[in-house]
Amino acid sequence: MRKLLAPLLLCAAGIFTSSLSAQSADYGAAVDSDRLSAASQEPQVWMSYGRTYDEQRYSPLTQINRDTLDQVGLAWYADMTTSRGQEATPIVVDGALYVSTSWSNVWAFDARTGELLWEHDPNVDRATGFKACCDVVNRGVAVWEGKVFVGTLDGRLIALDSKTGDKLWETQTVDPDLNYTITGAPRVIKGNVIIGNGGAEYGVRGYVTAYDAETGEQNWRFYTVPGNPAEEFEQPELFDAASTWTGQWWTLGGGGTVWDAMAYDVELDLLYIGVGNGSPWNQSLRSPGGGDNLFLTSIVALDPDDGSYRWHYQTTPGETWDYTATQHIMLADLEIDGEERRVVMQAPKNGFFYVLDAATGQLISAENYVPVNWATHIDLETGRPVENPDARYDLTGTPFIASPSALGGHNWYPMSFSQNTNLVYIPITENYMGYIADNEFVVNDSGWNTGIDLGRGFGLVRSTPGLPDQGTFLQAWDPVAQEEVWRVKHEVENGPAGVLSTAAGLVFQGNRSGEFVAYDDETGERVWSTLTQAGVMAAPSTYEIDGQQHIALLVGSPALPSEGPGAAASTTVASSNNSRLLVYRIGGEAQLPRIPVETETDVDFEIPQTDAPNEVIAAGETAYNRTCAVCHGNDGISLRPDTYPDLRRSSRMVSESDWSSVVLEGELQDNGMISFANVLEDGEAEAIRAYIISRANTDADQR
Ligand code: CA
Repeated sequence: MRKLLAPLLLCAAGIFTSSLSAQSADYGAAVDSDRLSAASQEPQVWMSYGRTYDEQRYSPLTQINRDTLDQVGLAWYADMTTSRGQEATPIVVDGALYVSTSWSNVWAFDARTGELLWEHDPNVDRATGFKACCDVVNRGVAVWEGKVFVGTLDGRLIALDSKTGDKLWETQTVDPDLNYTITGAPRVIKGNVIIGNGGAEYGVRGYVTAYDAETGEQNWRFYTVPGNPAEEFEQPELFDAASTWTGQWWTLGGGGTVWDAMAYDVELDLLYIGVGNGSPWNQSLRSPGGGDNLFLTSIVALDPDDGSYRWHYQTTPGETWDYTATQHIMLADLEIDGEERRVVMQAPKNGFFYVLDAATGQLISAENYVPVNWATHIDLETGRPVENPDARYDLTGTPFIASPSALGGHNWYPMSFSQNTNLVYIPITENYMGYIADNEFVVNDSGWNTGIDLGRGFGLVRSTPGLPDQGTFLQAWDPVAQEEVWRVKHEVENGPAGVLSTAAGLVFQGNRSGEFVAYDDETGERVWSTLTQAGVMAAPSTYEIDGQQHIALLVGSPALPSEGPGAAASTTVASSNNSRLLVYRIGGEAQLPRIPVETETDVDFEIPQTDAPNEVIAAGETAYNRTCAVCHGNDGISLRPDTYPDLRRSSRMVSESDWSSVVLEGELQDNGMISFANVLEDGEAEAIRAYIISRANTDADQR
């Protein structure tokens, strides 16, 4: 047990002693098919990732409402002992609250008191960190019949005893020699634990697998892209899918990873999975003769018992912009044209909001929820986008500044649906990026494989005047009328956070300014807020215990900005990323400690000068943007300096040997910073150092 337990108990607002005699101290996670299928009848718990199988993230609880919000305070909190990002939704059932955190660690708490029950560290090899595009995060666990399941960054699925945290079984779900990762939450359907994986920027082939919850044995696997046609296809529909590909895509992996969204319709007995982008992104490299490239960027409906294919709908045929359809999939009953329809809804990265028939996959409607320029609209007859002919940059074509960017109009941040308003609340970003084909693309076994020149793409955006403002918003969207009802702009624009709606007419969302906010679900009026001492990315969940409604939220994202409400709560300008679990209820009186002053130890060195010629610095910029920017930030500016050091502040730049010891010799591989000796060409590490020195001098006043 960790030494942090003592302060943890102190913060439990003095009610810890009452927990030991409580009936709920069984922590059995006694979840089964009947309970999960009827989860809407148990408002007091949050048994699975999206609360119910339809993943609406809508809670019937109303004790916290417009009249009581001003009495809501922090009941308890727990430090997550990491500065890494937090993306998990807390799962709460049978008196226990389960969260996963960075490096796929799992923590279990008494949901009433915050007492730490157990923690499990799966000892993920830290060198796998480089395979994760977007930090070593984990979005949550699943519970079932006394077990807690977590997918690990290094590709394992692990079953833990819900009462003790002891490992019951584990199975490797990927080839560890390939660049697969797991960051998504498993789902359990009728005793099958279903898990996908990520890695479509790193040359893998996507699939989703079901394992027996009792034993960990594989029951079925569904591949999302065809393999080599010279070998036998694993599934019959891959034969037709292969006719939508050209060239030798299987040598490039193909992509199509299922790294986040799943939903399940109990009545129709259909599992829906969201499929990711192509690998590499650039279709003219991946499938040179074009084609739709099924099942990339599709919602696919499967039989959850055997994984057999039922239907698919492809959002972006011939994907070439990283427009994944892995975003939140949600089921709902909507009245459309006077008819009650069971629908699947998704706001994938490509900027269109889709409403599909849940039984057949038929497109009912689609409109853009953010500015879109890669397509003019979705043709409802064909179900296909009508593309802007300029958008499809290729090896000979001109560059294109596309909206949305590869980050998407909406990314993994969970949406919510309100059964009060019939609106969907979407964490959106209005953005764009420059796409320029990489004419010298070669497959890079241990790195980023997009087939586009990111560095020149950044330069294109910088040098193009008159581009519209970018921004981050909470948007209320009417899925029947397919139009926006209201939006709220966030002050800090480096990303949104997940959403919860409740029957009390409230929508809850954190933000990157370090606040947790409640909005009126009809108007977007801000009706309550509290300071979190950390930026927020994750979605809240809510539960009731001892007659009291609680709201639980993991906080922790890029460090807080130097201005705005969150910074005001801090004692320092450059605050650290205070990753924590925060749990609120009416009458909660716990207080967060003041943020300790962070010292940037590396800032004290003298920035060296470089005598490298301009062409070397330019080559360093290109190599940096190709290899380093995905983690350390565009143009050398880290958005997450706690996690990915801002290299302009790194004293490693001072000497060639200090630099190469990290970049080429892997000195910091236990942090995820592996050696890039196989990736960089001769002289490139030094060119990158020259570029960073030049950036550090240019931005010396920002230290
Ligand atoms: Ca991607």
